[in-house]
Amino acid sequence: MPTIAHSHALANQRHGPAHPGPRSRKQFLHDCLRVLTSAAMAFVAAPLLAWRPRIASDLSLGTAQPDRTGREPQIDPAFVPSYLRLHRAGELQRRGERLHAMMASCQLCPRQCGAARLAGERGFCGASARLEVAAHHPHFGEERPLVGRGGSGTIFMTHCNLRCVFCINADISQGGAGARRSLDELATMMLTLQDRGCHNINIVTPTHYAAHVVLALDRAAARGLRVPLVYNTSGWERLEVLALLDGVVDIYLPDLKYADAQMAATYSSGAGSYPEVTRAGLLEMHRQVGVARPAPDGLMYRGLMIRHLVMPNGVSGTRESLTWIAEHLPRNTYVNLMSQYRPVFKAFDYPAIARRLTRREYDEAVACAREVGLTQLDIQG
Ligand code: SF4
Repeated sequence: MPTIAHSHALANQRHGPAHPGPRSRKQFLHDCLRVLTSAAMAFVAAPLLAWRPRIASDLSLGTAQPDRTGREPQIDPAFVPSYLRLHRAGELQRRGERLHAMMASCQLCPRQCGAARLAGERGFCGASARLEVAAHHPHFGEERPLVGRGGSGTIFMTHCNLRCVFCINADISQGGAGARRSLDELATMMLTLQDRGCHNINIVTPTHYAAHVVLALDRAAARGLRVPLVYNTSGWERLEVLALLDGVVDIYLPDLKYADAQMAATYSSGAGSYPEVTRAGLLEMHRQVGVARPAPDGLMYRGLMIRHLVMPNGVSGTRESLTWIAEHLPRNTYVNLMSQYRPVFKAFDYPAIARRLTRREYDEAVACAREVGLTQLDIQG
C-alpha cells in the first residue's frame, strides 16, 4: 500500500508536460490514470490510517506504544509486579478480553444487572463500555505504606456499582463527573504517575471497569510500568471476576463496610448481599496475595489491606466484622480502622447516619479490634 507521502508525490505529476506528442500522449494518459488512482488511494487511505488507532484504542485491539518512561520507578529495584509475568505470557490481554466480554450482558459485579454495555447501554452503575475517568494524581492521604514519599498514584474511575447514600465522592460515583478516555490514555496515566515518583498505581472504584484496567495495564506493562497495582474496591466483588484478577493485582485494598444485610441494602442501594459476598471475596483476595506487610523500605508491595469505616450508631457492624476477620483470616491481617465518617450527600435523610462518629464510638472500635486479637491495625487519632 502506498504511503500518504508517496501518494502526494504522484499527485504532483499532474503538472507534467503541457503539450504531449503522439507517443507521449499515451504515456500522459497512463500517468494521468496513475495520478488519479493514487489520489483516490490517498483519499481513502488517509482516513483509514487515522481511523485504525481509534478502533484499537476503544476496542482493545492494535499494538502497544514504544517504551516512554523517563525516571526509574521509585520502588525496590528487585520488585517484580505480578502482572508482568502475565503480560509477557500474553495472558493479561486474554484476561482483559474475557472481562470485556462479560459486559455484553454485564455480569462484572454482584448486581449482575445485565446491561448491554457493549451495545452502548449504561448499567445500574452508570457505566457503558466507554471508559470514563474523573482524575489521576499522586495521593498523600492513603495508608502510609502506600504513600511513602512519592505518593500513591490514584486514578479515580467515574461511576460506581454500590451507590452509597453517604458517598463522599458522589459527584464522581453517582453524578458522572469525569471524561471519556481511551485505553491508551489510561495506560499513559499509569506511566505518568510512575514517572512522577508514585510508588504504586491505585485504581479507585475499579469494579465496573475491570476489563479496561486489565487491558490498559497490559499496554502500560509493555511501555515500562513496574510499580505495584492496587485494586481499591468497595469489596463487593464476584468470585468469577476475582479469579480473572489472580496474578494481575499486587495489593487488594477492599472495604468491609457492613456486617448486616439490611444495613447494606438500606445505605447502599439494595446491596443486601454485601456482607456475604464481600466476606467470600476477602477470603479469595487473601488466598491470592496473602498478608500485607511493609517492606524494609516502608512501602507495601503485596497483600490484602482491609478498610473498615466505623459508622455511627453501629451501622457498620464493627464488632461483628472485626470478629469475622479475626476468625477467618490471619490475626496479622492489615486492618485500617477509619474514623473519618461524616454525613454528606443523602446521609441527612437517614437519622442513624446523620451525624459524625463520636470519640467514644471510635475508641470502642479500637478496643474491640484488640480484644479479638488483630495485631496489624492502622488506627487514627
Ligand atoms: S458493573 Fe455496572 S453494568 Fe455491570 S453488572 Fe455491575 S452495575 Fe451492572
